Amino acid sequence: MHKMTTCPYCGVGCGVDADILDSGSIGVKGDKSHPANFGRLCVKGSALHEVLGAGGRLLSPLINNVPVSWDSALDEVSSRFLRTISEHGPDSVAFYLSGQLLTEDYYVANKLMKGFIGSANVDTNSRLCMSSAVAGYKRAFGSDTVPCSYEDLEKAELLVLVGSNTAWNHPVLYQRMQAAKKKNPSLKVVVVDPRRTATCDLADLHLALKPSTDSELFSGLLSYLADQNCLNHDYIEQYTEGFELALASAQQQFDSVSAVAKYCDLDSDILTTFYEWFAQTDKVVTFYSQGVNQSFSGTDNSNAIINCHLATGRIGFEGAGPFSITGQPNAMGGREVGGLANQLAAHLDFSSPEYIDLVSRFWNAPNIAQTEGLKAVELFQAIEEGKVKAVWIMGTNPAVSLPNTHQVTQALEKCPLVVVSDCMASTETLKYADVCLPATGWSEKDGTVTNAERRISRQRSLLAPTGEAKHDWWIISEVAKKMGFEDAFSYQHPAEIFAEHAALSGFENDGNRDFDIRLYQDIDIDTYNSFKPVQWPVTQEAPYGTARMFSDGRFFTPSKRARFIPIQASSPIQQVTPELPYILNTGRIRDQWHTMAMSGRARRLFQHRDEPFVELNQADALKEQISDGELVKLSHPQGDYIGRARVMVSEQRRGELFVPMHWNNEFSSLAKMGALLEPVTDPISGQPESKHGRVSLSKLNPSWQGWLMCRSDLEINLPVEYWSKVPKGDVTFYYLADSVELVDGIAWCKEHLGDVSIWLEDPNSQNFRAAGLKGEVLEWTFFVMPYGEIPSTRWLEEMFSEAELSIDQRRFILSVTGCEIENPGEMICSCYQVGSNAIVEAIGLGSRTVDMLGDKLKCGTNCGSCIPELNAILAKELK
Ligand code: SF4
Repeated sequence: MHKMTTCPYCGVGCGVDADILDSGSIGVKGDKSHPANFGRLCVKGSALHEVLGAGGRLLSPLINNVPVSWDSALDEVSSRFLRTISEHGPDSVAFYLSGQLLTEDYYVANKLMKGFIGSANVDTNSRLCMSSAVAGYKRAFGSDTVPCSYEDLEKAELLVLVGSNTAWNHPVLYQRMQAAKKKNPSLKVVVVDPRRTATCDLADLHLALKPSTDSELFSGLLSYLADQNCLNHDYIEQYTEGFELALASAQQQFDSVSAVAKYCDLDSDILTTFYEWFAQTDKVVTFYSQGVNQSFSGTDNSNAIINCHLATGRIGFEGAGPFSITGQPNAMGGREVGGLANQLAAHLDFSSPEYIDLVSRFWNAPNIAQTEGLKAVELFQAIEEGKVKAVWIMGTNPAVSLPNTHQVTQALEKCPLVVVSDCMASTETLKYADVCLPATGWSEKDGTVTNAERRISRQRSLLAPTGEAKHDWWIISEVAKKMGFEDAFSYQHPAEIFAEHAALSGFENDGNRDFDIRLYQDIDIDTYNSFKPVQWPVTQEAPYGTARMFSDGRFFTPSKRARFIPIQASSPIQQVTPELPYILNTGRIRDQWHTMAMSGRARRLFQHRDEPFVELNQADALKEQISDGELVKLSHPQGDYIGRARVMVSEQRRGELFVPMHWNNEFSSLAKMGALLEPVTDPISGQPESKHGRVSLSKLNPSWQGWLMCRSDLEINLPVEYWSKVPKGDVTFYYLADSVELVDGIAWCKEHLGDVSIWLEDPNSQNFRAAGLKGEVLEWTFFVMPYGEIPSTRWLEEMFSEAELSIDQRRFILSVTGCEIENPGEMICSCYQVGSNAIVEAIGLGSRTVDMLGDKLKCGTNCGSCIPELNAILAKELK
């Protein structure tokens, strides 16, 4: 049976055609009819069926780690929340939500806290992702309105990608851009990013600017547009306000393009070319994400971009507009319901008593919150200070993802009541939970999500809930009922919640509010179940949705005019010092998602990058005497990070480092990027400055390194300085390194792994190899070797699935060179398992294009996520 659903990873919101098999498993492919992806899926989406199954799931409610009935768990949560509220007031409790929740879950949580508990202490991990973009839109348009559609990316003549490694983080949109450029070779692409990322493969121009100088770059552009007489005076006059002040502010900052270039550390000619292209092209889309948002001046960065679009009137028509792209699958749905602490509901906020009154009457909630609540970073500080005494965390892992994770875990340790709803059994945050509530996961959940182009789609349940897992909206509603709010939370089906959400969007909305889906206020279950993707607003005038906003030049400010915002130059707060001389940039990698709770279950998704790493420029590597592949340590007074060095020739600027955001204590000994980042936030949006930390860098000098492979169910404790885990299905692989000398390998194995069945020791070559067998079945293998390259372990993996090892197989286990081991090199194409060595060989044999490589090896022919890397290898090999 086929069901159409939506990918739960990034904000592109691809439609997934799921084939539910009789065996209970599912197959996935792209939904050809979904307007976000038209059948495409990236590698993460293609591996969705690989992250399912009961293994690793939270299967029943727990109180103090003891399984209890749902009734007991709900009693515990509701009674302790009620007691805390009655003793300390409503602001002593909080919810911390997630962009992975469905809109219906989000709606119910927000309604309970803001409407009935009477506090606005509801915030979400989306604060870390796009809150600066929200604040920028609200300042400019009077509303949190994304003006564009994905098809604008294809209709544009100039695409400006700012702070966005689209090729890795929004791969399907990147593929759409690639296809558009192929179809229209005159389409120009400019990438603005301190790093030369895979996205630059598409770029006609790459501006490798100094980190956190984005607003100055765009203020310089505004000034240039005025100097060159390229402003749209009619548009400015008719539809905007505040232009003179914004322009004066931009002109005060810089008196020439070369001054901007100097400030941003760019080549003046390259910058002039970008400015000329922007000035000369009508159809411009500026596409921006975390590189713009995760900054002390994230909101200003957004407005500096929007200012340029307003000044040229490049908004509200096909192929034009300032387009913020969200990271998370339902960040937009969370915004719709008011899931941020400074929002109320349905795109209404606390800025007017009328808004509060409106929502209060709609919800019949006399105890509604009156003021904004605590934003994410403030919230966890308030928990540590004892001001917030009960927190309910749903579907997110703040012990890993927030800045200063040490402070966050201290706060959770101190907090009298921590409730965590999650589908997985083991996350760092769950370790601090007094009450754990098993939630349904993707393939079980049922509701709606909204992607980055305002398109609402259904996420449909495909399989029955695992164990005793329940839907988040159900869990929240049951707690609400037990707290005494029975009437307002008597939902029986998510369709009822969606209908109420739709009704609120239209309630007393005379066109002054952008978010309006009132046409669905009477939706029944059948219609909800057959819901087709649609872009809001969906109104009587636009019953099939709205692709583009502001076509009429009418905005949602009191004057109905868009506002220019004067931007002042500002510097990052986390400035380097002699003790912390390196700028730290953080971000996602191609094949992992957030803190890997879900993507970390698919072995395929570890093949591209399987260890935490640090990217650094070769000049810095030389200075610090670090070679590619060596282990390095990043340090900050708050915490440390260990990862494998990736020395870059030109991709990384000097003095700047990049680390992935995903690894954490569940997967590695010391690799939480949040441990290194200070809790510095944008003063308007509250979004952390995660793109500009500061650290010191040193080489790790382990006495030995090695690797361990064992059955995944083996419980082991690894007392080494560095370990990093790579799940490979039934087998788990660990990289190991330690500065403490391994004096007696056999004793070490016995202590940490169990009885040693066979071993091989060569003190001269520093090699030690051992394996443990239970009967004839392989349990673990442990290899210590001189510091250097780790050979392929594929053959050995296969040995773990043998029910009985032959004498030859036993002999070869410890003899890495004795069996046929093909080292694939770096895994480039995860879909077809094509490594760099095979690609280089194929190029040598005459494959001179991506298409030719695809014909020969199939690489790049499924999800296409690896095409930029294929191009990079081609460029290097054919040079
Ligand atoms: Fe999922 Fe990839 Fe589509 Fe994002 S681009 S929604 S991760 S398939």
